[in-house]
Amino acid sequence: MSTFSVKAFGTDAAEADLKEINIERRAVTATDVEIEILFCGVCHSDLHTARNEWHNTIYPNVPGHEIVGRVTKVGENVNKFKVGDLAAVGCMVDSCRECESCKEGLEQYCEKGNIGTYNSPDAHLGVQTFGGYSQTIVVDESYTLRVPENLDLAATAPLLCAGITTYSPLRHWNVGPGKKVGIVGIGGLGHMGVKLAKAMGAHVVVITTSAAKVEDAKRLGADEIILSTDADQMRKNAGSLHFILDCVSASHDINAYLSLLKRDGSLTLVGAPENPLPVAPFSLIPARKSFSGSMIGGIKETQEMLDFCGEHNITSDIELINMQDINSAYERLLKGDVKYRFVIDMASLKN
Ligand code: NAP
Ligand code: ZN
Ligand code: ZN
Repeated sequence: MSTFSVKAFGTDAAEADLKEINIERRAVTATDVEIEILFCGVCHSDLHTARNEWHNTIYPNVPGHEIVGRVTKVGENVNKFKVGDLAAVGCMVDSCRECESCKEGLEQYCEKGNIGTYNSPDAHLGVQTFGGYSQTIVVDESYTLRVPENLDLAATAPLLCAGITTYSPLRHWNVGPGKKVGIVGIGGLGHMGVKLAKAMGAHVVVITTSAAKVEDAKRLGADEIILSTDADQMRKNAGSLHFILDCVSASHDINAYLSLLKRDGSLTLVGAPENPLPVAPFSLIPARKSFSGSMIGGIKETQEMLDFCGEHNITSDIELINMQDINSAYERLLKGDVKYRFVIDMASLKN
């Protein structure tokens, strides 16, 4: 298969910084779209993967799965795009397309395993997939998305992971008018969860460890705020929420958050810390509570989320960085020091 070389930023080892490397992309096949990447969001999953915190990283690793850009080439059977159009790619670039999950548009739960945008087997080139910290990506059109034209492009990039990962469980658990919804961890995912739950008509309660985010949470759309480090505030709000979306990237006491649920309430984990989160049986049993998880969203639902954001004028609050700043951005991410998503201006990779 013919390939071409592009510049990227990646890492060779868990302890190493990210640096400029070259990777190969395949020449477009009949159903492929070649996209010049203009902006790529920085997800905490990029950091977990680059540093092998989930113990499955194949090196070299090029992270990045919040990709927006411009179409530079299309295969002869591509219908969705023409050269010059805007296009986006999220967390998946393929799946088996035949299993029950794939047929239901839930490719993220493909029974053979979805093909991640990075760190998955690439059937075309026989190596691992490489993500969006790169100049160009080539993706089958079935796994690409259309971008609403009215939104700021850089601030749209984080919708491709942070947006869909919060939108999908909020829809699945019927969040809307009359529901009191807690969002825990106001980082990239959490701040999108607040905006989306608000736009769906829910009463939104921000639950944060950061006193510095309390004021800002109202601007994001919070109706109420709980500072989770204040035991008094946690006690006062016990048993008050129908649903909680947990977007926390590090170890935390899940039982403290379960105590905030009403009878029959659900706490859904999208945050994926490195270590297990022990749940006490009596955090769940006495009020028939549920503890569950959710992973990104299918392609159809990702398009639905993008269109919803277009209609409601929802984008991410971002800090635009150069590719060369990625290692210090990771350090800041670990401190919860970003409002609320780093996005890489990929033009900087040309320097
Ligand atoms: P992020 O921007 O770093 O935000 C994480 C937030 O968690 C922080 O801003 C902080 O919010 C809170 N936090 C951090 N340490 C904490 C601690 N020790 N105790 C309590 N809260 C703490 O990360 P992100 O990109 O939003 O990603 C969040 C998590 O979701 C990551 O683990 C990521 O891998 C995972 N993820 C999962 C999926 C999926 O499909 N399920 C998709 C994407 C990402 P406050 O300052 O408000 O406390
Ligand atoms: Zn992500
Ligand atoms: Zn499948």
